[in-house]
Formats: sequence, structure tokens, C-alpha cells
Amino acid sequence: MKPWTLEDYREIVNLPTHLVVVIGADSTFLKANEEVNPILMWHPDDIIGEKAKNFIHPEDWEETYVTMSGLYLGTRSLITDFTNRCLRKDGTYRWISWSASLRQGKIYALGVDVTEKMQFEHELTIQGLVLESISEGVVICDEEGTIVYSNSAEENLLGYQSDELLGKPMQIINAHDKIESKERLKKVFEDIETDGIWIGEWDNIKKDGTRFTTSCRVTTLMLNEERHLVIVQRDITTKKKRQKEKDELQNQFRMVSDRLSLAVKTGKIGIWEWKPGSDKVSWDEVVEGIYGYAPGTFSGDVADYSNGIHPEDREPMWIKVSESQAKKEAYLVEHRIIRPNGEIRWVQCSGNTIYGDNGEPTLMMGTCMDITEKMVANLDQQFLSNISETLSSSFNIQENLRIITESAIGYFCDGCVIDQLRPDGDIRRTVVAHKDPEIRQKVFQIHEKYPQHYSSEHPLFTALITGKTVVIEDARTTWQGLKERFGDGYFVDIAHINSRGTITVRLKGRDNLLGTITFFTGQHSNYKFDQRSKWLAEEIAYRASMAIENSLLYLNSQEAIKSRDEFLSIASHELKTPLTSLTLQNQMRLRQLEKGDHSVLQEHKFRRAMDADDRQLRRINRLIDDMLDIARIRAERLTILKEEFEFCHFISDVIERFTPQMEAAGCPITVSLTTPVKLQGDLYRIEQVVVNMLTNAMKYGAGQPIKIEVTKTNYKVSFLVHDKGPGIDSKDVDRIFQRFERAVSGRDISGLGLGLYISRQIVEQHDGTLFVTSEVGKGSTFVMELPLHA
Ligand code: ADP
Repeated sequence: MKPWTLEDYREIVNLPTHLVVVIGADSTFLKANEEVNPILMWHPDDIIGEKAKNFIHPEDWEETYVTMSGLYLGTRSLITDFTNRCLRKDGTYRWISWSASLRQGKIYALGVDVTEKMQFEHELTIQGLVLESISEGVVICDEEGTIVYSNSAEENLLGYQSDELLGKPMQIINAHDKIESKERLKKVFEDIETDGIWIGEWDNIKKDGTRFTTSCRVTTLMLNEERHLVIVQRDITTKKKRQKEKDELQNQFRMVSDRLSLAVKTGKIGIWEWKPGSDKVSWDEVVEGIYGYAPGTFSGDVADYSNGIHPEDREPMWIKVSESQAKKEAYLVEHRIIRPNGEIRWVQCSGNTIYGDNGEPTLMMGTCMDITEKMVANLDQQFLSNISETLSSSFNIQENLRIITESAIGYFCDGCVIDQLRPDGDIRRTVVAHKDPEIRQKVFQIHEKYPQHYSSEHPLFTALITGKTVVIEDARTTWQGLKERFGDGYFVDIAHINSRGTITVRLKGRDNLLGTITFFTGQHSNYKFDQRSKWLAEEIAYRASMAIENSLLYLNSQEAIKSRDEFLSIASHELKTPLTSLTLQNQMRLRQLEKGDHSVLQEHKFRRAMDADDRQLRRINRLIDDMLDIARIRAERLTILKEEFEFCHFISDVIERFTPQMEAAGCPITVSLTTPVKLQGDLYRIEQVVVNMLTNAMKYGAGQPIKIEVTKTNYKVSFLVHDKGPGIDSKDVDRIFQRFERAVSGRDISGLGLGLYISRQIVEQHDGTLFVTSEVGKGSTFVMELPLHA
């Protein structure tokens, strides 16, 4: 740099706010400008001729002297930014930054007051020292989020080397994702705006990627007129973990204590104490409650306590207590108690004995818990499984129903009634259980005296029709409607039964309704119907239904077996008859021939014999065909080959072929046909049906006239065969169309009971119907209806 000229000096001498001094080689002030006054409070004359050393802070003089000497000695030609403290007239110092150069053996120096700046920097240094020294992590960032400062605690916390964080974005230490960070920062700035500070928790990432949570305080700081964020952080991961553990423990504890207090509150666990030998026992309110006493009303007498135990359980309970004392062990017993109001409940009692120094028992104490619900549930299960077991051992319906009703009474009700639904829709009261025979009888009588029908509001029908269990708290008031219907008498009769509550449940098998079962309690009963009773009633009803259904299935299967056996014996008989007669005929002819009698070979005799044989063979054939058809129907292999044919013509043909037989059976026939009618069907199979109808009419109506009719509507053609035979009982009408079923018993009239069954199958395969209308003693009309447009 070029040395200053005088002009330079002149120019700068008058520069305001700049201090200008000229110092001689002996370090005295030779000149000073006016600025010495506003900056240092001196007048130029005060310092001119004075030693510079007198105006420099003692701590700075040495450096100042060395610097000035450098200029004199020519080791440096120019001084810039040299700062020292200069004395003011009031004894204080100002920081002055000097630029100086040597000219003609004198130092020309230009000074600027930098006190403020120095103070700020000084403060910053101090602040920095403070920040360094605090154990919490401190990080300062500008508004863009660039880190401008981090203390060593922060660097340790995050695992960075010193100053490694400087200039990096805050994001590298932030564990929250972008969106979350944005939200959180918004809140930080809002809080700072209003409170000047944000305090909260922040998740951070260490250099090695581990995450941790800090408790965080954020404030702002103006540095170089720019807002900065100062973040002070403390790792609270361990603290948090501990807090979590503590919270969990506390929660568990709270849960246990809640449960305990709940148990205590609901009156389930109580505490008792007894000094062995004393006649007083001490109970807390819970034990009192369990035993049915209001708080504070139990006498405390051991005798009263003992009397409260169910008589059957008293002795076993005391035995258990003395055994436990003998073994010096705690005991646990379950026994029944009887509350002062007569209610029976189950309790579980534990007890332990404390012994004195001499080994004598000094105190017994323990807990008492009401376990009625658990015990009742166990007993109910036991009760139901007993019922199931008994039922499975027999198929006798009435006996089973008696067992069910009798085990129910005395267990949860006083009486039990079963009303069974009969196939004709009638309801029959079949079983009544009650320990009083007079009431039993009345319950039967009421049913007969006041026959109900389906529209009645009687619970029996409600249950039967809707399937919903009907529970009635007080039968006498609820059945008011029935009183109105049947008059006061009904009400009086009901009152005689003395019933209070009733529960009626439907009995239902897999596919059919079986009836109802009703449980009832007496007016002064120990039993009260509640949810449990309803559940029990339904469970019993379910078992009763199963029992009835199984018995019915069993009976049916027995019937089926019986029919089959009968069929086999009839079938063999039926087959045997023609075979026997064939065999006999043959033997007879052989014998005649052997004797030389050839008359059997005469044409008319031979023809008759052949005809007779042919009939027998046809009979055998028919039987075998029927049996084969049955097998086909069972295997669903009865094939129908349809073709178009004219029905009336076809019927005339069959009748014509039948006429000789009809005449032989003494059955005059009248036939009435309609106009020709075209049908689609299997000729062979329909003929089978017609033949069967005609044969039956002939068989069962032998010696009586038979009327045959064909009628027609737009949709169907009907073939009717009227006979004047014995007719069929209405109860047998359905049965005769079933396999092996015959209304006539035994072997009065031959037949396998297959014809109608096979015929109905054939007609149904043609989408038609086969049915009978009949009156015993007057004859029957069998009708085959076939659709016209099948
Ligand atoms: P089957 O006649 O070989 O016994 P079916 O199946 O043809 O077998 O008839 C079944 C039963 O129906 C007969 O056993 C008989 O009891 C009754 N039945 C059939 N047709 C008549 C009729 N026309 N009159 C009275 N009973 C009849």
C-alpha cells in the first residue's frame, strides 16, 4: 500500500467519528484531531506531548508497544485492525481499532471506536463459554434451519465430533417425518410468539441412527440482527423408559386393587377372624353380606355362625378345620350356607392359624367368598348331563318324559307338564309331575275342562307357534285374558293349582313340532324363575325333544323292520303258492303218463293245463317284476319312456283284456269314457298302474260291480275305478301307498303291498297324482290324474 501523503492526512484528519493521532518516536502524542473529545472525552491539548502509554489500558500496552515498534523497526509497514483499550477522561476505556503507518519517523494512526462491537463479541465469548459448560445439549440454528452452533454436550448426545454439526441442516438430527416436523415446528413458532418459549419432547437421531427422545426447550435469539432458534435438549430416553415401567406397574397395581375392591364391593370376598377357644368370631361387612346379614347385625356368636352352615355340610367343614390345625396347614373348603331368609348359597372359605411362642393356636383368620353362581352352574351342568345319560339308555317315550319332568321338580321348579302335539293337530296332556297327587290331577283336569285352541293366548300356543320361550312371573294375573274367555271358573281352577311362575318351552324335533313342556312354581315356592331357570328350561326342552324324536325314529324303524319281515314272509308265500301248484300239476301229469294214461295229452285238456300253468307263471312273473321295480325305485332307476297315445282307446284295450277275469271274479263293469284325449307317457308303465287299480278293485271288491270312468278338464284327464269293496279306514289311507304296507292284515287276500307304492311312483314321474277316497263298508274310488300338457 502507498504511504499516506499529507493530503491524505488532511483529508482524513477531518473525517468525523475517526480519531487521528500522530505519535513520535518517543511514543508521545504529537498531534490529535478534535474527535478525541467525543470519543475519549479529552481535548487534543490534553494529550499532545503526553506519553501514549498513559492513555493505553495496562493490559494492552505491551502489545501496543510491540506493534508500534514493528513500524519503527520497519518489520511491518502498515498496521490494520489493531485493537486496544484507550483511556477516557472519566477513567473508563473505549476499544479503538487502529490503522497506522510510519512516515518520516512518526506514526500516523487512524482510530475507530469499536467498543460496542467488542462488547458484543466479548459477551458472545462468555455466552459460548456458558453454553459449553452446561450439561444439556445446546444447538443454535438460523431460520433456515442451518446449525450455527452446537455445544459439546449436544455433540456427545448425538455422537458427532466437535463442530461436525456446524453448517448442517437441523433435519439430520430430527427423527420426526417431514409432515410431522412441519406441524410440530408450526406449534413451536406459535408458542414462542405467545410465550417466548416452547417446551416439549422431541425425537432425535444419533449419528449412528439410533433414536432417542429429549425434553426440549426452544427460545429465539437475535444474532447479527437475524432471528435464531436456541434449542436446549436433555436425553430422557431412560427416564421415559423408567416412567413407562413405573406407569405399567402402577396400572397393574391399580387393576389388581380395582379388582380386589370390586370383589370386595360386590360382596364376594370377605375377611373373618377367630380366636380359637373363644365363642366370638369377627366378620367384616362382606362376610356379613354373604351370610345375609345387614352390616353390623351379625351377633358374632360362633354358634350362630355354625348354625348358618347347611346342616349337611356342617360336620365335614369342622373336620376340615381341625385337620388343618393338626397339620398346621391352611385350609380351603366349599360349603353351603343358609341365610336367615332361608336362601341357600355356596361359599368358599379359606383359613389359616397363627401360633403363639408356646405352639398354641392364638388366632385363626381367613377369607370367605360367595361362589354360588359357579357352583350352581356346575350343578346345572351335572343335572343336565344326568338327564341326557338317563334318556340315552331307553327309547320308551313316556318313561323318558316322566324321568325328565320328575328330575326337574325339586331341582328348580315345583311342577312340570308335557303337552304333546298329535299328528291330527290335537294337543294331549301326557305327563304331569308334581309331588302333590291332588295338584297333579287338577293339572290334568284343567286341560280337559278348558280345551284350548290355536288362537288362544295361552302360553302353550304362543310357545308352540312362535318357538319363543314364554316366561310368566305371576300366572294368575297374566292369564286374566283367559279368565275373560273361559269365565271365573277357569281362574278359580288355575288358583287351585296354586301356581305362581311358569316357563313354557316348545318341543321340536328336526322337522316337526312335538308339543310343549311347562315348568311351574307354587305360590310359596323356594324357587323363583329367572334367566337361569329359563336357560335350564330350554336345555331340558331340547333334551326332551331329542328323546321324543329318537324314540319316534326308533319306533318307526321298528315298524319298518316289522313290515319288511312281514313282506319277506308274504313274498315267499306268494312265490311259493304258484310254484307249488305248478309242481303239483306237473307231478300229477307225469304220474298219469307213467301209468299209460295219455288223456292228459288230449288237446282240450292239454290246453287247459297250459292256460293254468301260464297263469301261475304270470303271477310269479308279476311278483318278481314288482320286486325289481322296488329295487329300481330305491336306486332311482325307474325309467319312463314317453310316447304319444290316445288315452280312452288305451283304457278300452286294457279293460277288454281284463273282462274275462272280471267276469270270473263276479264283478260286472260299467265303463264311461270321454272324447278322445292325447297324452304323453310311458304306455307300459301306465298300463301297470291301470292293471293294479283294476286288480285291486277286483281283489277287494270281488262279487260287486265295478265302475270305470274317464273324465277330462282343460288340464288333466282322470281315470277313476269305483268298487264296492270293504273300503279303507281313513287312518290307513296314507299308509297303503307306502312300501310293504297293506291295510288288510296277514294273508286273507294275497298281495305284497307293493302295487300302490309302485303305481304312485310311476304316476308322480308323469307329474300326475294317484289317490283314493273311501268309506269303510261302502267301497273305494281310486283316482289317477294325469296332466294333459306334460
Ligand atoms: P297289495 O294289494 O298287493 O297288498 P297294494 O299296494 O296294491 O298291495 O295295496 C296296498 C293295500 O291297500 C292293500 O293291502 C289293501 O289293504 C289296500 N287296498 C288297495 N286297494 C284297495 C281297495 N280297492 N279296497 C280296499 N283296500 C284296498
